[in-house]
Amino acid sequence: MAKHTIVLIPGDGIGPEVSAATKRVLEAAGLSVEWVELPAGATALEQGHDNVLPERTLAAIRAHKVALKGPVTTPVGKGFKSVNVQLRQKLNLYAAIRAVRTMPGIKTRYEGVDLVIVRENTEGLYSGLEMEVVPGVVTSMKVASEAACMRISRYAFRYATRRHRRKITVFHKANIMKLTDGLFLKCAQKIQNEEYPNIEYEELIIDAACMKLIQDPTRFDVMLMENLYGDLVSDMCAGLVGGLGVTPGANIGDDAAVFEAVHGSAPDIAGKGVANPLALIMSGVMMLNHIHEEKIAEKIKAAYDAVLGEGKTLTRDLGGTAGTNDFADAVIGKMK
Ligand code: NAD
Repeated sequence: MAKHTIVLIPGDGIGPEVSAATKRVLEAAGLSVEWVELPAGATALEQGHDNVLPERTLAAIRAHKVALKGPVTTPVGKGFKSVNVQLRQKLNLYAAIRAVRTMPGIKTRYEGVDLVIVRENTEGLYSGLEMEVVPGVVTSMKVASEAACMRISRYAFRYATRRHRRKITVFHKANIMKLTDGLFLKCAQKIQNEEYPNIEYEELIIDAACMKLIQDPTRFDVMLMENLYGDLVSDMCAGLVGGLGVTPGANIGDDAAVFEAVHGSAPDIAGKGVANPLALIMSGVMMLNHIHEEKIAEKIKAAYDAVLGEGKTLTRDLGGTAGTNDFADAVIGKMK
């Protein structure tokens, strides 16, 4: 099997604990890998770097194209742009992917949820183009470019095809934002018509779509949307299946991809060995699919599903008493 070189950013707080556990699980499942371990976040500053995202870390991701990242702490009030924003901008990670599914043994209001949110990550209302027109009147500009709308649409359809998904639903508000959301829709329609007629296609106005999502999340499959909508709907969907602790994420571009759990560095429990590594392990599984190690990904997924289903080795956030390493050991035990 080809050996992969993957950049590992352990991160801050619980980051090093959950990263070490994830590394063990991936290797135990048979991943042949050389980890290039580099800092980001508060750890980078502590090590003497002058940026929360050191140039060396960035260069390594550019060179090796794939990174697994633990959560990082962005120092408040010190003028640093967050690591995540820098990564997204410097590596042009234009697609933010969240995978959300009902996990065995984790009790929630819904069953059978299995969703993927594909969010445009570079423009929309998050372009940072704000101005004061006259005192007391400010505006924020929503940007949509044909290039970015085509790029994210193509990514979503390619992803859906590769991951054997059946349908893409675009959430929009083109009835009000006729030009910007209108362009987004036009691009999605064009990609579906011309390149991916194999995937079912649906458009829903976002307010009604949110209602339908809460009424019956199982009617959705892959959801595609612009930046702000994607930000909100991603967290809403995480809430459907048990929260950010069971939600993996990825930021993907044409030249690099960074996989990470969506929870933070949890300073309140850092260093205690009690953090749940599940979300980062799940992000690791997304990463394995991305690098075409689908069999190893399936093996790990089946193993943590089995551990969760048994309910004997759960971390405290899921109502158990197990530590970070106990959970990782239980997952590894299921793969033997
Ligand atoms: P947080 O996610 O770190 O913590 C919120 C709560 O969830 C805490 O009680 C924490 O103990 C718990 N928690 C989080 N992850 C857990 C896990 N894996 N296992 C068990 N419990 C877990 O959010 P916060 O407190 O708002 O943020 C703390 C720091 O993390 C901040 O500096 C913030 O900027 C950063 N942050 C980073 C990322 C990232 O790097 N992707 C994301 C969100 C927040």
